[in-house]
Amino acid sequence: MSLKKHVAIIGGGVSGLSLRYFLSKRFPHLKITLFEKEKSLGGCIHSYDEAGFFFEKGARIFKAGKSLDLLKLIGKLGLKKEILISDKRAAHRFIWTNDSFHLLSLRPMNFFSSPLMRTLFFALLKEWKQKKKEGDETIASFAKRRLGEDVTNLFFDPLTLGIYAGDIHKLSILSCYPTLKEFEKQEGSISKGILKKIFFQRKEAFPIQGMKTSSLFTLRKGVNQLISSLAAQGNGEIHLSSSVEKIIHRQKGVDIESQGRKWQVDHLFCALSAQGAKKLMEDFDIETSRFFQHLSPMSLSVIHLGFQKNVLKKRGFGYLIPSLEKEDILGVVFDSETFPEQNKKDPQTRLSVMIKESPFNASFGLSKEKRIELAIQKVRKHLKIDELPCTQRVSDYKKAIPQFFVGHEKRVLFLRSYLNIHYPKLTFLGNYLEGISVSDCISLAEKISTSFALYP
Ligand SMILES: Cc1cc2nc3c(=O)[nH]c(=O)nc-3n(C[C@H](O)[C@H](O)[C@H](O)COP(=O)(O)OP(=O)(O)OC[C@H]3O[C@@H](n4cnc5c(N)ncnc54)[C@H](O)[C@@H]3O)c2cc1C
Repeated sequence: MSLKKHVAIIGGGVSGLSLRYFLSKRFPHLKITLFEKEKSLGGCIHSYDEAGFFFEKGARIFKAGKSLDLLKLIGKLGLKKEILISDKRAAHRFIWTNDSFHLLSLRPMNFFSSPLMRTLFFALLKEWKQKKKEGDETIASFAKRRLGEDVTNLFFDPLTLGIYAGDIHKLSILSCYPTLKEFEKQEGSISKGILKKIFFQRKEAFPIQGMKTSSLFTLRKGVNQLISSLAAQGNGEIHLSSSVEKIIHRQKGVDIESQGRKWQVDHLFCALSAQGAKKLMEDFDIETSRFFQHLSPMSLSVIHLGFQKNVLKKRGFGYLIPSLEKEDILGVVFDSETFPEQNKKDPQTRLSVMIKESPFNASFGLSKEKRIELAIQKVRKHLKIDELPCTQRVSDYKKAIPQFFVGHEKRVLFLRSYLNIHYPKLTFLGNYLEGISVSDCISLAEKISTSFALYP
């Protein structure tokens, strides 16, 4: 590859910044220019302090076993000592149904502690006899087929809402829970797959003492630490408040228009959200914009509530709510319980209430004030918190969570081969291709940086 090449990255979220970092480490002479629409970097990641409370607006928690690439990157950036493992209490996660909390735990001793866990236990006992089915299907059809209606509604539905804010009757099992589909394919059942994993899989060597596959972690001063370290340790100009409005693909490269200025680059990496990429591609190419239409990203509101005392009677990570409860909130994360070290003052309670913006919810279109009222009303009902918070703030994420509907994997393969043929100077990355988590975004960025040397 020529050393004089100039590439551009659109989008200063974790995808764009980690790609910039990996490219600059791999190709130190490469000229890189990054364009970010907002006046600060981070996209869905934003840590902030307000009125004596610490909050994460977006991404906040990572599961060690599913975040190996994030952990590797944290190590490379010299942030290992900043890793904060969740409090032991965070192992207690709940489902709120039938007016009560049910502990969600795969520990054998907890299996009989609630009717919900008993339901799961007996469903798993029967599950290994179910027949295999090839190919993709909805999460609901997979879960019903293997584990029955109750497990589908009481486990798969709230967990999927918690991760994708999405509908189990539309989302793809293959793209949302690939491990479960793999267990069915390889072992013939989920229960056998889990047991095999527990007893025979090589244990990961995690960088932090005491860290296990199931550990949850964050960064001590917030996930923004990852963003600022990536920005500081990668090379190349960063243009803030610089929205890219138009791109033109040419045989030798790509022309970019941003803030009335034109740029010519040899290759363009588009590291936007699904919605951002859809907008950019709308007038550009019908086939690619069709791909983006299939992603129908969900909007989400996160309502942060801060109390200057300990108001929680329930201890743990937080809870999720199945859709059959029609509660208008997806669930609540107990931030102050999960990472008490991030409390600015003790005692303190920090809660994040998640609301899905859907026309089917009563909360749809509510003003910020009304959504705060709704959040307060729900924590009063579920958690019996009668005090009013001393601080509250709403963070809106418009069309931020891409939906991996059935057939997503095939559509991604098609997009890739289509781009290779028609637009070889353009590469897409982001949370809508191979996974939604921060670690998934980093894995994809690293993979793309590795193959860049092979590009024409
Ligand atoms: C509320 C919420 C909570 C989450 N919690 C977690 C969690 O706990 N753990 C986890 O692993 N993941 C979590 N996620 C998912 C994860 O945060 C995201 O998938 C990931 O951060 C996406 O990063 P990205 O860089 O691909 O996209 P984005 O963060 O969306 O970044 C895209 C960037 O492009 C910019 N942009 C858009 N249009 C243009 C343009 N025309 N020109 C220039 N710039 C443009 C945007 O301003 C933005 O900065 C959460 C997501 C949300 C919304």
